[in-house]
Amino acid sequence: MPEKYHIKTSPVPPRLPRIGKYGVVDWREDCAGCHNCVKRACIYDRHRQEMEYIRNLSDVNALFFDCMGCFSCVQDCTKNLLGMSINPVYERLGNEYWTPDIIRTTWLQAETGKIPVSGAGYGGPFSGAGFDSMWTDMSEIVRPTRDGIHGREYISTSVDIGRKVSYLDFSSDACCNNLPPLVTIPLPVIFDMNPTKFALPDLTNIKAAVAARTGLISIVDSRKWPLPGIDFEQLLPHIAFYLDENTPLPSHDVLKKTRLVEIQDSPDAGDRVKKIKDICPDIVAVVRIELNKNGLDRAIELACCDIEVIHIIADSNGNETGTEHPRFIKDMLRTIHTSLVEDGIRDNITIIAGGGIALPEHVAKSIICGADLVSIDLPLMIALECFFCSRCEPGLACPAKLENIDFDYGTGRMTNLIAAWHGQLIEVMGAMGMREIRRLRGETGRAMFFEELEEETFGKFFGKRKQA
Ligand code: SF4
Ligand code: SF4
Repeated sequence: MPEKYHIKTSPVPPRLPRIGKYGVVDWREDCAGCHNCVKRACIYDRHRQEMEYIRNLSDVNALFFDCMGCFSCVQDCTKNLLGMSINPVYERLGNEYWTPDIIRTTWLQAETGKIPVSGAGYGGPFSGAGFDSMWTDMSEIVRPTRDGIHGREYISTSVDIGRKVSYLDFSSDACCNNLPPLVTIPLPVIFDMNPTKFALPDLTNIKAAVAARTGLISIVDSRKWPLPGIDFEQLLPHIAFYLDENTPLPSHDVLKKTRLVEIQDSPDAGDRVKKIKDICPDIVAVVRIELNKNGLDRAIELACCDIEVIHIIADSNGNETGTEHPRFIKDMLRTIHTSLVEDGIRDNITIIAGGGIALPEHVAKSIICGADLVSIDLPLMIALECFFCSRCEPGLACPAKLENIDFDYGTGRMTNLIAAWHGQLIEVMGAMGMREIRRLRGETGRAMFFEELEEETFGKFFGKRKQA
């Protein structure tokens, strides 16, 4: 049996004051001075920490907002002197897709490497846009597959990138198939380049080092090669060079040490893939397709040709670009996957889905919708205490001071984040009763979709929902 996939983590504390959600406001007037002050009962010791924090305060804007929001002290103060407040800086984080909650939990995971615990129940609506209109089936949560989480059985998160043969031919003593190259990675995640809108921090060398540490692959713009200050030769098996239409191939010696290469889609994509394969027959070639108004048709078209992997990219909020009514990545994935299944060619191709993957649950949901694996970019940047602000351009000051981070801090935080995502993926799979992530692909029976449930329940009375 192969060794279990395990990512070693250690806490990497934040560089900046924490931007938490809650603070507890305390009016000292009228305090009864009771001997059993509820503040002492805080199991997180937040009131004492706040006093120490205020004593050493260097910046009046950085107030202490690190309460866990359990309401215990607020409810139990006999004089009702304590009240909960929400941090206004927290509320301004991110945007409508990358919500403050997503940013904060990403920071916590990057700090601890652990699965975040929200506690106090779920405070939001039960359905929303995008991935929030889809629920995974957790009906197996008490069944034996949970053993996999606790070590008695193994839940595999390994995936293969490349073409799979539909049958094996043993007509002579050995297998006679001409087996195509296949890259296996232990988690259905690869690291992508940042979208151009978030051009400020160049994290290429940190991401490549984390990919090597976690056994994954990082896509690197080949124009940046070789990067200074790091021995990339050793990291080459964990790098996939990205080549746009005009970029020449890296030297053959360098290319041969990599396992995956990605090219920009173009009318001659098939010829370019063939040229790369002539030089490196063992490399797996990926075609990157922007999900603009022609993207979905192009993805299906390429999947029907001799292309072995497509990497479809939505915008950073997971939407199609260049259309009036953009579709969300999960819906586009379902269309592509279903079309290929109907044509009987789904296993000819691997689908990597990128754009809008903000949480580990999005990994599982994308795979249920038909992806083999996903690519992530912004979560790795947010892991480094990025605020996800709208001024990520050269020449403007980064409020998170990302230009000053050191290598160990960066690799430590990103590694912790990947470990926490792996833990959550195992939890989701255990709860669904799945022991193998390859089998989750296209398993829509393991999920419920709001639009389908709504149509099933109310469609016969009210007809189709109007588009906004
Ligand atoms: S609400 Fe809970 S976590 Fe926050 S300070 Fe009070 S007891 Fe501590
Ligand atoms: S804090 Fe803002 S400027 Fe700095 S990396 Fe994040 S998005 Fe870019």
